[in-house]
Formats: sequence, structure tokens, C-alpha cells
Amino acid sequence: MHDYTNYSHLGEGKKYFTVTFGCQMNEHDSEVLAGILESIGYSTALSPEEADLIVINTCAVRQKPEEKVAGLLGKLKTLKEQKKDLLIAVGGCMTQQAEAAAYVKKRFRHVDLVFGTHSLPRFPELLKQAGRKRGTIVDIEEYPDSREGLPARRAGRFHAWLPVIYGCDNFCSYCVVPYVRGRERSRSMEEVLGEARSLAEQGYLELTLLGQNVNSYGLDRANSYDFADLLTRLDRVKGLARIRFMTSHPKDLSARLIKAVSRGEKICEHFHLPVQSGSNFILENMNRQYTRERYLELLRAIREAVPGVAVTTDLIVGFPGETDRDFALTLELVEQARFDNAFIFIYSPRKGTRAAEMEDTLPRSVKEERLQQLAKVQSRISLEINQALEGSTVELLGEGASKSNPAMQTGRTRSNKLVHFPAAEELTGKLFTVEITEARTWNLFGKKV
Ligand code: SAH
Ligand code: SF4
Repeated sequence: MHDYTNYSHLGEGKKYFTVTFGCQMNEHDSEVLAGILESIGYSTALSPEEADLIVINTCAVRQKPEEKVAGLLGKLKTLKEQKKDLLIAVGGCMTQQAEAAAYVKKRFRHVDLVFGTHSLPRFPELLKQAGRKRGTIVDIEEYPDSREGLPARRAGRFHAWLPVIYGCDNFCSYCVVPYVRGRERSRSMEEVLGEARSLAEQGYLELTLLGQNVNSYGLDRANSYDFADLLTRLDRVKGLARIRFMTSHPKDLSARLIKAVSRGEKICEHFHLPVQSGSNFILENMNRQYTRERYLELLRAIREAVPGVAVTTDLIVGFPGETDRDFALTLELVEQARFDNAFIFIYSPRKGTRAAEMEDTLPRSVKEERLQQLAKVQSRISLEINQALEGSTVELLGEGASKSNPAMQTGRTRSNKLVHFPAAEELTGKLFTVEITEARTWNLFGKKV
């Protein structure tokens, strides 16, 4: 347990504002940060202007999010000039890299605190130091401090993120995550189950288990359980309706896991299973540790065992050395695999990774052309798959008013598809059935039955 009683007055009467870039793990880290801040007296600000403390939680997976952080920091300079006691903290994956931390400190002198991905448990102490000192405090050491027992202020009331494993040991050659998130650390099954039960008691219906690679859950611990065991145990937690998980790495997606998903009552029929490329040559250079044949075989096994399952993926185009032939193989794989959806990225070289040392001669225009071509094929397939759902009835968990049309509400299917529907009654946080009336590429329309 972390005892913050010594800091309990640090935030009294003060307000905080957080900005989060990147993945769900980062979103949850911001929830933990918010939990810590509220436990030492802070309350939420509705805008950065109103805040006494602004915390930016950064992402390093591609260059673009790093550029956005730099842009935001530039803008915050004026705010800091107007409000001298404003504290600005920047942390997470980008600043865990020593070079980026030094850059932020040098380039943005109005930043008070630069922290890394291991600093959360120490945050109150860092804030105290930052409040006393002029100049920037930097804390990017890899402390072994446990994150167990940290409070969290969750953004959702029905859906909650639940980390099960931190870090990554896979070292895909393009990826910075293993460097900025450290080695794989699984939480114990007791800790995960305890948090799941407590969330169920608080009224949460849906949990998403988080990890860079949930499939290696448990393998770093001196005990004999794995991710399939964890899912099976979580499936029995009373009060929960849906359990999701992400991300799955194909290399250690076991038959036991597929079985656990097919048997589980609450475990949703959705795999996010990044394939990255359809070319064995590129997969090898990416250090993904599977072939396209093995991937397609897995897909077959999943679809055979789990009727109605949705499979989504991530793809990278323009990896160093990717020829027209390699790209054609990716296109062909996407046609064969028929993913429900795909996130497609242009390769972005990351300092310190193996791929950054590889020769990258492909012009930007070719990479963009490949992205467009792949996106077009995937959109057609997504629409076809969604159209096959027209006329069917599905279970939804209500998520509230539609962002594009306030007259409509939205909900998600077990297969993680977003459905818009008209309804007079308030269905947020409720489970109910709709008939799918119309399919679009990115979402569905339905009516309550
Ligand atoms: N741990 C997860 C997700 C990691 S990051 C996994 O292994 O799938 C999410 C996605 O970003 C990756 O799947 C990959 O498609 C993409 N990505 C990671 N590094 C990248 C890079 N350097 N350039 C472009 N895309 C990248
Ligand atoms: Fe990055 Fe690969 Fe680890 Fe995913 S599995 S976080 S892509 S190194």
C-alpha cells in the first residue's frame, strides 16, 4: 500500500487537468494519476486555464504523437507566464527516453516536472519537490516500486480498464515500447481478481484487461497459471457482464486461450491480433516470431472455436526494405484474413530500435500510396462484414449519446462494434437487444427490440 498522508494537503483547494496521448494503458495510467492527485486533495479542472497543475501523459510509439506534445508544450508557455504558480508536468513513454527528457527540459523551460513510466507511485513526492524548486525536476529512473494499491479515478462508470501485465519483452525491431515500459511484469492473479471483484461491486459491467501482450501473462512469475487461467477465473466474478482483453500477440496465443474464450460466458468474442505484415521476409525482419501461414492458421482456429468472433488487427506499411512484392503479400493477406477492422500505420523510425538502423529508402509518397491502397481494401471488407449483420439481433451495452447526433444513443456489441440507435429512454450502462437495420464501414445502425 502507498501511504500519502504526508502529502495529504499538497493539493488542497487546487485543481488538476490531464492530457493523455496514446494507448489504453496510457489512458489508465492517467486514471491512476488522477486517483493519486485526488487522494492528496486536488480536484478536477474543466479546462487548462482553470488548473493549478497540468499533467501531460505522452506516447512514443510513432513520431506524430511526440510532435503533438511539443506543440502543446509550446502553447502552454503563455499560460505559465500569466499564472506563475501553475505547475506543468510531462511524463510517460516519450520522456522515459533520456534524450527526449533532456530535450523537454532544455527546450521548454516552463515545464516543472519531467517524469517517466515508472514514476507514478512517487508522484506526490515529485510534485512537492517541483513546487519548491525553480527549474525542472527530472525523474526517469526505473524504480522497482510496486503499483499495487495505488488509487484510480476511472473515467467510465460501466466500463473499466484493468491492467494485468506491464512492459514488453518481445522487442519487435520497430518498436520502442520494450525500452520505455521495461520488462514484463504480471500482476498476481489474486491482485487482478481482487480489483475485478471490487469493480463489479462498484457497478462496473465491462472490464478490458490490458497488456502490451496479454498472452504472456503469468509466464514471468514463479507460479503455474497463464492468461487462459486468469480469464477462466475472471469469468466467474459475479456482477460482471463482459470481459475484453488486448493486445494479443500471435506468437503465444495458445489453444488453451482460444478454448477459454470459447467457453467463457462473459469473455467477449473479439481478438485484437496485430499481424503487421503479410510478408514472411518482413515479419522476420520485424522479429515478430511467426509466419503468415501460422497467423492464418491461428485465425482459422479462432473462428472455428468462437462463432461470431470479430478479429481486428494492426498493419505497418513502409517498413525498411518492403518491396512491391512484400506489400502485395500484405494486401493478399488482408483479403484472405477478412479482418473486421484494421489500424494501418506508416512505419516511423524510433531511435534506439533495431529497425532504425536498417536502410529506409522508400519515398514517403510510396508509403502513403500503400497506406491508401490497404485502407481501401480493408474498408470494403469491413463494410461487407457489417452488411452481413443487417437484420440480425445483437446484445448491446449502452454507452450514451452519440457524439455526431445527440438525438441518437450508442452501444457496443460483444464483438466490439459501435451501434447507433434512436431511443426515448436512457440506456447508458444497460444491457439490451437491438436489431441491426443498416451497416456502414465504421459502425452500425439499429433499433431496440
Ligand atoms: N503491444 C501491442 C501494441 C503496440 S503499439 C502489439 O504488440 O500489438 C500499437 C501498434 O503501433 C503496433 O501494433 C504497430 O502496428 C504500431 N507501431 C508500433 N511501433 C511502430 C512504429 N515504429 N512505426 C509505425 N507503427 C508502429
Ligand atoms: Fe512493441 Fe512488439 Fe512489444 Fe507490441 S509486442 S509492444 S509491437 S515490441
